[in-house]
Amino acid sequence: MGPSARIRTVEAFQVTWRPGDPPGRRSALVRIATDEGVVGYGEASPMQGGLHSLGIVERDLAPALVGADPLDTAVLQDRLLHRFVKLGPEGALTGALAAVDIALWDIKGKLLGLPVHKLLGGAWRTEVPYYASIGGNAARTVEETVRVVEARWRRENPAAIKIRRDGDRSVLDADIPGDIAKARAVRALVGDGYPLGFDANNGYSVGGAIRVGRALEELGYAWFEEPVQHYDVRGMGEVAQRLDITVSAAEQTYTVQALVDMIRAGVRMVQPDIVKMGGITGLMQCAAICHAHGVELVPHQTQPMIGHVANLHVLAALMNLTKPAEYDDASGRMDAGFRNPPKPVEGRFPVPQEPGLGLEVDEAEINKRR
Ligand code: CA
Repeated sequence: MGPSARIRTVEAFQVTWRPGDPPGRRSALVRIATDEGVVGYGEASPMQGGLHSLGIVERDLAPALVGADPLDTAVLQDRLLHRFVKLGPEGALTGALAAVDIALWDIKGKLLGLPVHKLLGGAWRTEVPYYASIGGNAARTVEETVRVVEARWRRENPAAIKIRRDGDRSVLDADIPGDIAKARAVRALVGDGYPLGFDANNGYSVGGAIRVGRALEELGYAWFEEPVQHYDVRGMGEVAQRLDITVSAAEQTYTVQALVDMIRAGVRMVQPDIVKMGGITGLMQCAAICHAHGVELVPHQTQPMIGHVANLHVLAALMNLTKPAEYDDASGRMDAGFRNPPKPVEGRFPVPQEPGLGLEVDEAEINKRR
């Protein structure tokens, strides 16, 4: 007989890391404990502080989870997705399920005394390179963009850099010449051959995206992310098929069926996010879909602690890791809540080898910030 355990408590709460953190800078955490006191932590997407997902965990998922076997990760995910599907399979519900799933995998690893990647079938690598994701550039001048990129490039020595527009999604093609000028200036800064990505954050029409994409091809960018609105799956596919540069999408995709729709439309690099859809269980399903379709899986992931470490376990378990892992926030602002916060060494993160996620939570520090 293997370990036998039951879920005793499920807590969902927001953590404020520094006084005055706006909602998007807070974390949406889930803490699950078994009847024998084994504790697992998960995380939901922190959009608007993640309160929508935390509310679903607290009101709907927790009562259904208490008494269940924490090892039944896949059954619990599908049971709860289908029971509460009318809350919206988009975003709020799948973020809640992702947080629960990550916490349950943390428990599973601790119960079995193994790191998550071992339970996923083993690791192909012991470290994962990362790219620095640098946002907010629509509001910057060309010179300001270069300054911000240069600071992280020199300080961190990441394996690649992605610059994000982060503009107003309700205005398309707002400043195409300016966007191209920033892409050109960043290329001039880092030199030819250094891997760069460009994230449109859904800011272009199909025609505008083709224009920017051609410029990025000439500048030797490695990928062009979310060129058009995420809900325009056909348009995303058209841009991907008309350009030579790799076009990526699907960080705002919340079901495996929607992921397949994006691939069928013509997108050849997809970016589902472990804290937005399915957690570890869901991302491994995405991995199988991508492998079967010959599509690059490069998960979106902006949370530097629980989400990041959960992502690292999955990336370690992939045969083909074609691009570095996303890493958005190198500020260390959440370090106090963890005894062994993940830190890159020369642009690479070691894959945790301790049981579960391998992240040691300082419960007293987290409780102070709840
Ligand atoms: Ca993005």
